[in-house]
Amino acid sequence: MNLAIVGGGPAGLRAAEVAAAEGVSVTLYDAKPSLGRKFLVAGYGGLNLTRAESPDRMATRYVGPEMPEDIWPSLITDFDAAATRAWAASLGVETFAASSGRVYPMGLKSAHLLRAWLSHLRAQGIVFRTRHRWTGMTFSDGSRHPQGIRLDFAVGPEGRPVSVETQAVIFALGGGSWAKTGSDGEWTRRFASMEIGLSPLEPANCGWEIPWSDTVLKEAEGLPLKNLRARAGTTETVGELVVTRYGLEGSVLYALGPVLRELHRANGTAEVELDFKPDFTVEQLVAKLGTLGKATVDLLPEARNRWRLGPAAAAILASRGPYATPLALANETKHCRLFLTGPRPLDEAISSAGGIRWSELNRTLMLRRFPGMFVAGEMIDWEAPTGGYLLQGCLATGTRAGRRAVEWLRSCAQA
Ligand SMILES: Cc1cc2nc3c(=O)[nH]c(=O)nc-3n(C[C@H](O)[C@H](O)[C@H](O)COP(=O)(O)OP(=O)(O)OC[C@H]3O[C@@H](n4cnc5c(N)ncnc54)[C@H](O)[C@@H]3O)c2cc1C
Repeated sequence: MNLAIVGGGPAGLRAAEVAAAEGVSVTLYDAKPSLGRKFLVAGYGGLNLTRAESPDRMATRYVGPEMPEDIWPSLITDFDAAATRAWAASLGVETFAASSGRVYPMGLKSAHLLRAWLSHLRAQGIVFRTRHRWTGMTFSDGSRHPQGIRLDFAVGPEGRPVSVETQAVIFALGGGSWAKTGSDGEWTRRFASMEIGLSPLEPANCGWEIPWSDTVLKEAEGLPLKNLRARAGTTETVGELVVTRYGLEGSVLYALGPVLRELHRANGTAEVELDFKPDFTVEQLVAKLGTLGKATVDLLPEARNRWRLGPAAAAILASRGPYATPLALANETKHCRLFLTGPRPLDEAISSAGGIRWSELNRTLMLRRFPGMFVAGEMIDWEAPTGGYLLQGCLATGTRAGRRAVEWLRSCAQA
């Protein structure tokens, strides 16, 4: 029984590991000269491997159109946060959970974990074929025959054409951001030509643009907006943002991403309402300013002091003043409406939304119309906020595809 895996990111590597553990002969192909490049990049700022959260709660973090309602509970039950931590430990890398629940490997980086993982996979007998860019596939007898799939690759810098025969294939080609790591989304063209239904790849977990005034930029660029509440449509979240030259970046906007994209699609702009002082009511804020409010008093410096307003929030509020009364300033502080003109480009995003539609897949992550062809990882049409959910999602779908591809191969062998 032989299985081809195309794409050597976390989803493909995990699928390979699971299948090889079942005694299947696995060859893994990747376009790049080395594997797991985005996984390495993910470790630059601290590799958030998963989240210490119950499987039920974790499953609610994954969203996407047409997604079968119970698919994530079952995927996460197959491979949950505890399983991820045990897996890392089995590779010699202990993990720890921060107070936020985010789980990191000791040392925070991914290089050590990736090295240990790849040497374990080699020891399992998995064959790696790097510099192999997948370019197309045909079913060897010209029909959708389950027992013979021909995969075409362009090999090396000169793109030498090479074809291989396999009984089953798992594609784990990633999303469309950070193309230099290999996840360039180019596969979407090839899948579309096979009439496989796709949602367009869009930036998720990304910054959004706001044309700040020069004064806001001068006073606030690079500064954090801490402990704020944000609302877009009917969705609310709490967290942090950073003021950037182009607009805003940070966990709050990542969490609101799906709603913001929808608003932007409908209106050409996306409104977000920020509450810079979520722990106080308007009345409490007004009371803290006491009797101030005469025309001669500049309210903002007082508010900065008495409300402990950060410099970035103060700069944004100043650009929207002046404020004649404490009530006017308190209202703006609690309901600061900003219009986001668009997301940052896909290539900059931490992840992408869109990909292969769930309606194309059965629960084993095999394409309904292409028996023997499975998919895993970010290339499927789901998204999740940052915080460990992305890698957990890739490992869980890799686990499902790897196991079910083995079952498929066994069923073919018995047929
Ligand atoms: C800056 C940054 C920080 C991040 N931090 C975190 C984090 O802390 N926690 C977290 O959970 N997630 C994080 N992520 C997201 C996470 O890294 C991705 O979700 C994850 O790597 C996706 O895994 P994947 O296996 O689906 O695809 P990828 O890792 O993108 O791998 C896809 C592979 O397919 C190969 N490929 C593509 N096309 C072809 C082709 N035609 N032929 C052959 N091979 C091909 C590519 O070369 C690549 O190796 C971060 C991402 C970025 C960019």
